[in-house]
Amino acid sequence: MVVHTDFNMLSVLQYSVDVLKIKHIIVCGHYGCGGVRASMTQDDFGLINKWLRNIKDVYRLHKQELEAIPETEKRLNRLVELNVREQILNLAKTSIVQHAWRDGLELVLHGWVYDMADGLIIPVCKMEGLEGLESIYKFTYPLA
Ligand SMILES: [Zn+2]
Repeated sequence: MVVHTDFNMLSVLQYSVDVLKIKHIIVCGHYGCGGVRASMTQDDFGLINKWLRNIKDVYRLHKQELEAIPETEKRLNRLVELNVREQILNLAKTSIVQHAWRDGLELVLHGWVYDMADGLIIPVCKMEGLEGLESIYKFTYPLA
């Protein structure tokens, strides 16, 4: 599934989890990503600014770590990994995923980065439950 955290993504997510009962969701980024590269500039890209802004938010969250990396390419590739991790967290923040976990369904979120230079996929993060999610994002439910 390609993830953009907008309404359309949520309806695809809902159908996949609730109806198709899929067990694995993969968010896969790639090193050297032009979109992530663009997000690290201050250039105006018109219509895609909206998507770049989400990546800029990830940059802002991890600014200290990123700006300690002197080489631009390494900084870019670290942002690719951090962005994948944030998108996995964004999935875990949805009630769709949290309901599945609450109901004891097997649902694993995988964050991967693809390296086009060697064709290898690097696992960045994995979530099988609410561990690792800050409590402000965890929904609580009254006992049935
Ligand atoms: Zn890309």
